[in-house]
Amino acid sequence: MASKIQDALSSAAALAKGMGVTLKEMMSPTITEDYPDVPPKFQERYRGVHVLQRDENGLEKCVACFLCSANCPSDCIYIEAAENTDSLRISGGERYARIYNIDYSRCIFCGYCVEACPTDAITHGHGFEIASYDTSTLIWRKEQLLAPASPRETQTAINPPPGVRSPV
Ligand code: SF4
Ligand code: SF4
Repeated sequence: MASKIQDALSSAAALAKGMGVTLKEMMSPTITEDYPDVPPKFQERYRGVHVLQRDENGLEKCVACFLCSANCPSDCIYIEAAENTDSLRISGGERYARIYNIDYSRCIFCGYCVEACPTDAITHGHGFEIASYDTSTLIWRKEQLLAPASPRETQTAINPPPGVRSPV
């Protein structure tokens, strides 16, 4: 008999707890995302499509050290390096990434590449609309990943210092 009373009391307590949560949620403001009519809001830490960053002079930050690809657990970063020259400077280091591809059919957005990069060249952006029926389109190339040059940087690149060839 005592155990039945105990069962009834614990059931009533559980019911009251559940109803408490329901009532609390009923009083809370409704959160509705109107995507795709309104762009969704992301937390700053959201890991979306990568961005290859530029420095303050508009040069690419990537120096083709391969640390990102070496740390990628999905093996989805493909890089080919090339040397900067006096007449053609693409990055601030000795080398730059002539080819930089990320295969988004394999990327798990773990962020290890971002953590491994010594120059903060690769970061996560907030892009997420990359779904496709054709997986070949999920291999994003450097041209798609690279941050656009600012108007000032573009102007500097169009009118580079004497003897330096424009990267744009
Ligand atoms: S986020 Fe992870 S899986 Fe994607 S490219 Fe970077 S290291 Fe590889
Ligand atoms: S993105 Fe960073 S880690 Fe990857 S090759 Fe370029 S500099 Fe190295």
